[in-house]
Amino acid sequence: MLLVVLEHERGTLGEAAQQALTVGRGLAEQMGVPLGGALIGDDDAGLVAEAGAYGAETVSTVVHEVLADFGPEAWGEAVAELVRRLEPAAVLAGGSERGNEVMAQAAARLDLPLVANCLDIRPGTGAGEWTMTRQQWGGSLLEDARLRSERPLLTTGLHTVTAERAQSGSEPVAEAVAVDLDASLARTMVKDRVVLEAGVTLSTAPVVIGGGRGVGSAEAFAPLEELAKVLGGRVGCSRAVTNNGWRPHSDQVGQTGTRITPEVYIASGISGAIQHWVGAKASKHILAINTDPEANMVVKADWAVIADLHEMIPAITAELRRRA
Ligand code: FAD
Repeated sequence: MLLVVLEHERGTLGEAAQQALTVGRGLAEQMGVPLGGALIGDDDAGLVAEAGAYGAETVSTVVHEVLADFGPEAWGEAVAELVRRLEPAAVLAGGSERGNEVMAQAAARLDLPLVANCLDIRPGTGAGEWTMTRQQWGGSLLEDARLRSERPLLTTGLHTVTAERAQSGSEPVAEAVAVDLDASLARTMVKDRVVLEAGVTLSTAPVVIGGGRGVGSAEAFAPLEELAKVLGGRVGCSRAVTNNGWRPHSDQVGQTGTRITPEVYIASGISGAIQHWVGAKASKHILAINTDPEANMVVKADWAVIADLHEMIPAITAELRRRA
């Protein structure tokens, strides 16, 4: 079996789990093994069914009082215990912060190797050599790696694959696994999560209006807010902007900010430094507005307007309003 650890939150499978199942499905097919899911801390039938829609044939559920809230040690031990019992050919999880943390805990407990943030995984057989590419530095560095292990633990780089439901997804067989977990494992527990924004978030917005140093001040972001409102999007920014205190860090796009995946990213007054680009490159279309025709963002964008953003942004908003 190829076992996929399923990240979930408030009764839904996270994007990381859907992407890991999509990758796991292809790998399981290549290896000629069934695809199994590991659901830690919940045995909700809806979650099991959703894993089935992404191709899981079986789902092992582990429910225990120390797993009621997320805690990396307890979740890592639960995964380790499942691996001891099920002896899967490989274990995969989505390379989110939680996914990598839980898999690192499990790997240490099992004394097995973990390769994180992989794309393009090529399986070996038995104790054969697996090869994979893995992304570092938020995707700006790709490493070719080799791994010799009877039972590799891997995580998939987030957003390196589009999650796709299985063509013939069916109701998986759910199996409750009773695991003895010590209360001392509950050392770090997430007790609450506060979502600080309602509605469209930067990471899910269909349109992002980005502003960089070229915007010039905190007040000068008002026209970008206007345009975002008209398009039902969100304002993002570069680190030069957060460093200047013009916008909060939660608005920053990039390596040390948010990775965005909108239909359209309008990057205005942003030069397109590599650390910004890694957070913006998954946008489906990019429109750069910049006074410099040589700016990296202009060169890489699908469309570019060489103009002063202070004239161009209000002009776009006015035209959209006129056409509405
Ligand atoms: P600049 O590079 O100064 O570019 C300003 C642009 O605005 C120029 O292209 C200019 O032609 C244009 N412009 C000026 N006036 C106008 C106008 N009136 N109209 C139109 N265009 C105009 N950066 C990020 O963004 N996100 C990150 O997550 C991030 N992480 C980093 C992590 C590390 C470890 C390091 C070292 C750096 C990181 N950076 C990050 C910083 C990054 O290297 C750049 O310094 C930053 O992105 C530059 O921001 P900018 O494009 O707004 O500014």
